[in-house]
Amino acid sequence: MTNDTKSVPPKRPKYIFVTGGVLSGLGKGITAASIGNILKERGLSVNMQKFDQYINVDAGTLNPGEHGEVFVTDDGAECDLDLGHYERFLDQNLTADSSIMTGNIYQSLIARERAGAYLGKTVQVIPHVTNAVKNHARQAATKNNYDVHIVEIGGTVGDDEGFHFIEAARQMMMDEGRKNVLYVHVVFLPFLKASDEVKTKPAQNSVRDLRSIGIQPDVLIARTDHPVKNDIVDKLSLYTNVEPEAILPLLTVPSVYEVPMLMEKHNLHKVIAKKLGLRLSARTNTRWPKLVKKIKQTKPEVTIALVGKYTSMLDTYASVIESLKAAAWQSDYNLNLRWVDAGEIETNSAATFLADVSGIVVPGGFGQRGIEGKIQAIKYARVNKVPYLGLCLGMQLAVVEFARHVAGIEHATSQEFAAENEQWTARPDLSASRSWVIHLMENQKNITNKGGTMRLGGWDCVLADDTFSQAAYGTKQIRERHRHRYEFNNKYREQLAKAGLVIAGTTPDDQLVEIVEIKEHPWFVGVQYHAEFTSRPISGHPLFNAFISAAIKNKTA
Ligand code: GLN
Repeated sequence: MTNDTKSVPPKRPKYIFVTGGVLSGLGKGITAASIGNILKERGLSVNMQKFDQYINVDAGTLNPGEHGEVFVTDDGAECDLDLGHYERFLDQNLTADSSIMTGNIYQSLIARERAGAYLGKTVQVIPHVTNAVKNHARQAATKNNYDVHIVEIGGTVGDDEGFHFIEAARQMMMDEGRKNVLYVHVVFLPFLKASDEVKTKPAQNSVRDLRSIGIQPDVLIARTDHPVKNDIVDKLSLYTNVEPEAILPLLTVPSVYEVPMLMEKHNLHKVIAKKLGLRLSARTNTRWPKLVKKIKQTKPEVTIALVGKYTSMLDTYASVIESLKAAAWQSDYNLNLRWVDAGEIETNSAATFLADVSGIVVPGGFGQRGIEGKIQAIKYARVNKVPYLGLCLGMQLAVVEFARHVAGIEHATSQEFAAENEQWTARPDLSASRSWVIHLMENQKNITNKGGTMRLGGWDCVLADDTFSQAAYGTKQIRERHRHRYEFNNKYREQLAKAGLVIAGTTPDDQLVEIVEIKEHPWFVGVQYHAEFTSRPISGHPLFNAFISAAIKNKTA
């Protein structure tokens, strides 16, 4: 072998572990994603991963009302909503190995044990579970030769359930070398009104918990709702052994997209680079600072109604809301989101909630609750020519609404609701009289397991000419992410098309209907996929951008 063909040994990735303390809900995901952002924007290749302590195998079976939206990657993994933050802040597609839950690790360990892989040995948390955790981190870090791999550990330090993750993070320092592993700990500084001061004790205790496991944090991110003076930073430093320059007081800001800029202002990128021996370039472009500037500018508002069924909507529809915001910014507007409870439309009228909005969105969802209210909202959008965007269930219900009120298929509905409707199961004659314009396909009928069995992940879609969708995307073939069990029923395709429903997108083999539109309307599009998962704050998403433009026109018309 000559010198010039000699291969370069693969470089060692740097690992950053992000843990949390004091309480949950501090924005650990945003913090981790922002660190990814400031490093990637300075020329490094970055991957991210979330470890969740639940014994669930994936996030697909978790209730979005409690846990927030289920995010879906292009390769079809059902993940925690933090993966959405990572993709948006990195402007990069992630894959299934970026989301690991305890159940997932145990499932494969137990399968190995049953197969006899550990014959004669006991299988234990240390080393078997911790080794599996470390392997997951290493695989994700090395598969594309990333410079930096950021791992967010779910929950807070001290949770019994999260021990194996923290312990694995500690061992990584021994395995990979001190120079290659960095620990970032996110804490909270409460404000005590009575004494008018920000308190550091809970943060000190949380660092002590971390140190008792053997991890000395390198960086402290101190989340707070009140400005923090230098003496507080000095005090934290004294008690935690973290240098003052590596302690970042992070005040709650109006937009999460500002966080990378705040980190930069504090030179966090330099602190990280120094500790890990990384060489950073200058910012590779100005798109992020420009985005933040645009977000902060005073702008007119566009009011969009989001018709859903959960009351804590911020997390439940996280990606939809971020997509709407990003699209509004593209048009130099701010989003004014009107949350409309579908159940309330059923008891009042759609006009009560929708008369003054510029656009209407019905997002994805499961189950029968609120369905009729959503259908009324869609009817309102169609009849009153208010721009409409239907996402997944929002597309399926647009088909139901059109079938019932335009195509004259009186008992049109989705087969999903038959499974739940006691009245219909008790009365097969009634059930037989329904028209399943949305139905379960043959290959889905025998599925009894709920986990991981839907149509998931990225699918190609061909767009028809002369449609809102093709105009929005500016191309004929697209790829978008799915997460649903039911499909448009081709039995009704001709009848609905004759009545005026435009089939604007299908899978390349023409078997699955992916997009429906209505022509005599300023903008009416329903998509079987979740367009919100591919929207990025920098550019917005073609469909959301076109929808918001139409809404703004509708407002000023
Ligand atoms: N419940 C519908 C289905 O399973 C829609 C799913 C969704 O909106 N994500 O097909």
